[in-house]
Amino acid sequence: MQILDGKAAAQAIKNELKIEVAQMSIEGKKKPHLAAILVGKNGASETYVARKVKACEEVGFKSTLIRFEEDIYKIRVLEEIEKLNNDPDVDGILVQLPLPKHISNEEVINAIDPDKDVDGFHPITAGKMMQGAATFVPATPCGIMLLLDHFKIQTDGKHAVVIGRSNIVGRPMSILLSNNSNPGNCTVTICHSHTKNLNEICRQADIIVAALGKPETITAEMVKEGAVVIDVGITRITDASKKSGFRLIGDVHYETVAPKCSWITPVPGGVGPMTIAALLKNTFLSCKMKN
Ligand code: NAD
Repeated sequence: MQILDGKAAAQAIKNELKIEVAQMSIEGKKKPHLAAILVGKNGASETYVARKVKACEEVGFKSTLIRFEEDIYKIRVLEEIEKLNNDPDVDGILVQLPLPKHISNEEVINAIDPDKDVDGFHPITAGKMMQGAATFVPATPCGIMLLLDHFKIQTDGKHAVVIGRSNIVGRPMSILLSNNSNPGNCTVTICHSHTKNLNEICRQADIIVAALGKPETITAEMVKEGAVVIDVGITRITDASKKSGFRLIGDVHYETVAPKCSWITPVPGGVGPMTIAALLKNTFLSCKMKN
C-alpha cells in the first residue's frame, strides 16, 4: 500500500506557482489576487479560509478576506461581490460555504463573474466543464485529478465508483474521471443516498472516490484488493487529547481499508491540501488569462 500524499503533491504545485509568480513580478506584471468572503463564525469555515489565505501568501499571491457578521443582509454580500467583479485587480472570488440559512448559496454563487469563479461553482462554469471546454474546475475534484496525475495513477479503462453526487464534489468528479483525458477515461458509476447494494458496487471498483460526508462508512469488505481509494470526507470529532479539542476523520475506515489498497489518501493530508492547491492554480490561470 502506498500513500497518495496530498501534502507533498500540493507543495510541489505551490513551488511551481511560486516560481511563476516571481517571474511575473520580474516582468512587471501584477500578482494574482484572490478575494474571499466569509460570513459568520463557523469554526471549520474559519479554518479553511485561513488556510487559503496562508497558501496565497506562501506562493506570493495577494489575498483579501472580507468578513461579514452572521446576520448580514444578503444584499450587502451581493453588493460586495459586484464590487469585486468590477475590480480589475481581483482575479478570483470565493465565497466560503455554507452561508447562513437566510442567504441563498445559489443566488450568491450566481452573482460571481464566471471569469473570476475560481471555485468553479457558477452554472456557466459548470456547464463549460460538462462540455469539456476550458474553464475553472471545482477545486476539490480538480485537486483529486492533480493528485492522480502527480502519482501517475493509471485510470484509463478502470472502473471508478464515485460516492456522492453534490455539485461541488461527486458530480464534477464523475465527469472528470469519465472525460477523454489522462487522468480520465474511466468507466464511472456514481452512487448516492438512494443507491442499492453500495457494498457490491464498491467491491467492483478499481478506484473509489468517497465523498458522502459520513465518517468511516467505507469499510474493508467494500474494497477489492489493490483498489485506489480517495477519501474526500472530512468530519470533525471531539478528541480531548488534541489541543484543538477535535480531530478529523474521513469517510473511509482507514485502518482496515488501507492494507487492501494499492494507493490511499490519508485524512488529513490527502484531498484537503490538494483542494487548496487547485484553488491557487485556478486563481493563477484567471490572472494569466486576463493579463
Ligand atoms: P453533500 O452532503 O453535499 O453530499 C453528500 C452526498 O453523499 C450526497 O449526494 C448523498 O446522496 C451522498 N450520500 C449520503 N449518504 C450516502 C450513503 N449512505 N451512501 C451513498 N451515498 C450517500 O457533501 P459534499 O459537500 O459533497 O461533501 C462530502 C464530504 O466531503 C464532506 O465530508 C465534506 O466535508 C467533504 N469535503 C472535503 C473537501 C476537502 O477539501 N477535503 C472539500 C469539499 C467537501
